[in-house]
Parts: sequence; structure tokens; C-alpha cells
Amino acid sequence: MNWLTNFVRPKLQALVRKRNGADNLWEKCPGCGQMIFHRELEQNLRVCAACDRHMQLPPGERLVSLLGEAAYERLELPQVVVDPLKFRDEKRYTDRLRDNRSKTGEEEAVVVATGELGGNPVVVVVQNFAFMGGSMGLAVGEAMMVAADAAVERRTPLIVFSAAGGARMQEGILSLMQMPRTTIAVSQVREAGLPYIVVLTDPTTGGVTASYAMLGDVQLAEPSALIGFAGQRVIENTIRETLPEGFQRAEYLLDHGMLDMVVHRHEMRDTLVRIVDLLGNRDRREEAVLLPAVTQISETTETAEVAEPGEKAETLPERTAAAAGDEGADE
Ligand SMILES: [Zn+2]
Repeated sequence: MNWLTNFVRPKLQALVRKRNGADNLWEKCPGCGQMIFHRELEQNLRVCAACDRHMQLPPGERLVSLLGEAAYERLELPQVVVDPLKFRDEKRYTDRLRDNRSKTGEEEAVVVATGELGGNPVVVVVQNFAFMGGSMGLAVGEAMMVAADAAVERRTPLIVFSAAGGARMQEGILSLMQMPRTTIAVSQVREAGLPYIVVLTDPTTGGVTASYAMLGDVQLAEPSALIGFAGQRVIENTIRETLPEGFQRAEYLLDHGMLDMVVHRHEMRDTLVRIVDLLGNRDRREEAVLLPAVTQISETTETAEVAEPGEKAETLPERTAAAAGDEGADE
């Protein structure tokens, strides 16, 4: 059997490995089914070039697209009680947590960061749908409290990018308690007279929609994001009626007065800068600031060809330099 183990098996393994590698380089668009090269997708902020589908964006890439590479600082989130109910379904909750941590490289379903958005200091919360469906448990509640405290302390706006399937059922009633808790966090920001801006991304549902995700002073959403409380089928079965087309999608909610704007991901940063300026009463007419091109802010691409200096007016040079200097002072 020597020839089998020494010759055939390595050949087979090499074949399988190659196949896996090639799979990771291409991703299928869930909207139109087109295969997209991973680098192209990252440069395009994970928006399909063919059908404009906005795929889920990992927190790291989201923060880079808003605050610039290495120009933001993640806030440390407090440790919470792990698995208080000793919950087990098909898997132990602790095992599920461990799997999601290794899959996403993140500790929890939420990331809190501080940085500057067009020269304005901001606190940003990004929910990660890839981590247990972005579900709201003790950790997410804690993160919202940390973010609200940071915003109040630094006198900055709080921006939340929501993406969640709802409350984390593995934490039972404790996850539901995060609804009033995060609502209190939001009201702290409001009482301090600071703007609270929510960007709903695909999908935002359940207890998250029923708490902090719908309490923004300004409510934005990404195109065709699914936003709702209960799912479409549940509602149809309850009211025994067929729901209209596009129900629970961002555009539908905009038409019905639940949102202020639906913003393309490529325009998200500029729009947020304008809103934060406006709410902070800042007049930029004399500064004539131009914002960076979208392609200049891709984190994971090592290739330098993306950025073409001199093509667009430079990206707030003095301002970013000043921001980098200030960074340590706050801590
Ligand atoms: Zn597509």
C-alpha cells in the first residue's frame, strides 16, 4: 500500500487543496448569481458591480471605508458572563461562540471604534452579521453602553450600523433585557444633546429593530436592506393577507416614512460627513474639502494600483495628520 499513501494520496490532496483555494478567490453574488473576483469585490466595498447588490461588509472593512485605514481605534469591550444559562441546542453555546470567534476573527457580534469622520470625531458601532447573525446578547448591550458613554464623554455623535437577526436566544431573558438597556444608552446620548445616527444594513430584524436600531435622530439604510420585526411569512400567516412587493425592504420603508434616506454604500461616508457637519453646525463652504474616492479606502488589497494620488484632490491632508496626532491624547 506504500504507493497509495506516498504517491496517490498527496496527489489527491493537492488536487482538493487547489480546488478550495480557487473557490475562495471567487464569490457568488446572491442577487444575480454572477461570480465576482474577491479583490474586485473588496475594492467595490462588497457591492456587486452587475446588480448593485449590497453584500454584508465585515466590521473592519466598514470602519476603514468610513474612518480611513489605521485612523480609527477600537474600544475595548468589557467581558460579560459567558453562557449564563448553560444553554445547549444542537451544540453547546460555548462551542458555538468559539466556532464563531475562529470563523470571524472577532470576539463578539459587535465592534465599537472611535475616529474622525471628515474631521469630526465620532464613535461608531458596527454589528457583524457573520457572528451568530449579529444577535443581541449581553455583549452587544454592553457594547452599546460603552459606545454611548464614549460619545457622551468625548462629546461626539454616535453612529450605529445595525445588522442582526434579533436577540440571542441562547441567553434567553437576558438578551431581551438588552432592549431597554440599549434604549437607555441611546437616551443618554440624546440627553447630552448629541446626534444619534442609525444606518440599517441588510438584514436588521427582531429585537434590534425594536430597540436601538429605530431610535436614531437620523435613520439611514443601505439599498434593499431587509428591515423588520417579524418575518414576512409570520405576518402573512397572522393577518391572512398577501403582503405587497418589496415589503420590509429599505425603499418600501422610505416610501412609508420610516426612514430618512436610502444611501448607496459608495456614498455612505460623504453622506454621513454632511449629516454630522449639519448637526454639528459646521460650515465647510470656506474649507472646500474634497472627500477621498471610494477606491482609495480598501483595507485588504495590498496592491497600490487602487489609489491614484493626484487624480482627485487629496484627502483632507492637514486634518488627517492632526487626527493622527490627537489620537493618543484622548486615552
Ligand atoms: Zn449581483
